[in-house]
Amino acid sequence: MLKDVDVGERSVEDYRGIAPEAILEGLRRCAQDLQGARVLHVNATPYGGGVSELLRSVVPLLNDLGLVADWKIIHGDESFFQVTKAIHNGLQGAESSLVDSALAAYRENAEANARLLEEVYDFVFVHDPQPAGILSFRGKGDSRWVWRCHIDTSNPNPDVWGFLRPYLNDYDAAVFTMRDFAPPDLPVRRVEIIPPAIDPVSPKNLPLPESIARQLLGWIGVRLDRPLVTQISRFDPWKDPVGVIQAYRMARREIPALQLALVGSMALDDPEGWEMYSKVLAESEKDPSIHIFTNLTGVGNAEVNAFQQLSDVVVQKSLREGFGLVVSEALWKGTPVVAGHTGGIPLQMADGVGGHLVKSVEECAASIVALLRDPVWAGELGTLGKERVRQHFLLPRLLLNELTLMLDLAEERPIVHPPEWHVHRDPVCGMVVDGKTTAIRTTLGSNSFEFCCEDCRARFLGDPDRYTCRRGIVQ
Ligand code: UDP
Repeated sequence: MLKDVDVGERSVEDYRGIAPEAILEGLRRCAQDLQGARVLHVNATPYGGGVSELLRSVVPLLNDLGLVADWKIIHGDESFFQVTKAIHNGLQGAESSLVDSALAAYRENAEANARLLEEVYDFVFVHDPQPAGILSFRGKGDSRWVWRCHIDTSNPNPDVWGFLRPYLNDYDAAVFTMRDFAPPDLPVRRVEIIPPAIDPVSPKNLPLPESIARQLLGWIGVRLDRPLVTQISRFDPWKDPVGVIQAYRMARREIPALQLALVGSMALDDPEGWEMYSKVLAESEKDPSIHIFTNLTGVGNAEVNAFQQLSDVVVQKSLREGFGLVVSEALWKGTPVVAGHTGGIPLQMADGVGGHLVKSVEECAASIVALLRDPVWAGELGTLGKERVRQHFLLPRLLLNELTLMLDLAEERPIVHPPEWHVHRDPVCGMVVDGKTTAIRTTLGSNSFEFCCEDCRARFLGDPDRYTCRRGIVQ
């Protein structure tokens, strides 16, 4: 059997008064037609990184809504995860050549894990490339299979993509964070765009009294009488921790009391983590104002929450990014963010809300200094960012998108939306928007389109054909 991951019990009722009411109502109605449906989420690691963060909340909430959901992880040893990390990097566009033995290791692992998947489900969501090969050995049966890709695959390394592509042939649907991420020759007919979301009632995001937050950080040696910037990320070259240290050093010339915290988690499926960790340690040597923490040295969800709440600025200087949950997590606490202008980050900070998007070490340093020097303005940006997260990036919205997809895939039970809660979606980013209240709309012929932000409307107007060719389906 594949390994089950234990999740607790959760209730959708906990989100009342936090997430938009229309979304909670939509959830309840969608779930009515999916009672008892068996759902499996499969990925490669139960901790570390955004996918496990999401599943820890999604799976118990599906159960609360009356579906029967499991979370399982595939088996794999370190050499397998080195192959899949090379695939991950190649899919994000890195130079990467996979030798024959690596290709064979991927195939053998997929075949072995397919044998271990004994149960039958109505819907199977397979996350990222690591477990993607299971379907071709397992066969679909009566289940609907969805490949949920969390990474930026808009410009993949051709060899790596050429290897993975055939494994995707039989999927019923593929889900990406942004439309631009779907490779043009994707062999899956149905494409859904569903950005991730954060869980506002998880220990990482629930409101933490300031006195406790201060105690948590004081306990691990962070001085709270000095300005603090923090990046919270796996130790991964794409997250550019060394670039963050360089930007901090430049900013420190202007603000000598500045401290930097780099908080990084190690994931089961990320063997590069230790190498990057050593590099970061070497880079920060002899600077007592740089604090480096990991999940293995006791910095868990509560501490991450405290860092995101008490830092003056949160940095996420990614060079390539799928979504970057950490950005929404920080904004949810009203903390301004300086982040790489890449992947799903601009979606979270659209129209200038939340902080600054940057493209270089120099821009990153200048933005940190500007925000530290004007805390009132920084606070306003943070407040706007929090509202954007509330509208678009809280977990119930993600669940609603996924339930809608399941209903659409269940051909024998076609979805008929009752008119009073018809779900409107931004045609560019795919997010649910409140069709009654959003002011950001445009009319094309006899059709009206609503958007989550001005950026999306501008992109739509720049190329309307691209976004109107049957929504959600690449032909
Ligand atoms: N995270 C954590 N501890 C750490 C570093 C990261 O709990 O030391 C969490 C972080 O809060 C976020 C997730 O790991 O929830 C990272 O997700 P993101 O989408 O930002 O990046 P990914 O790792 O999936 O590329």
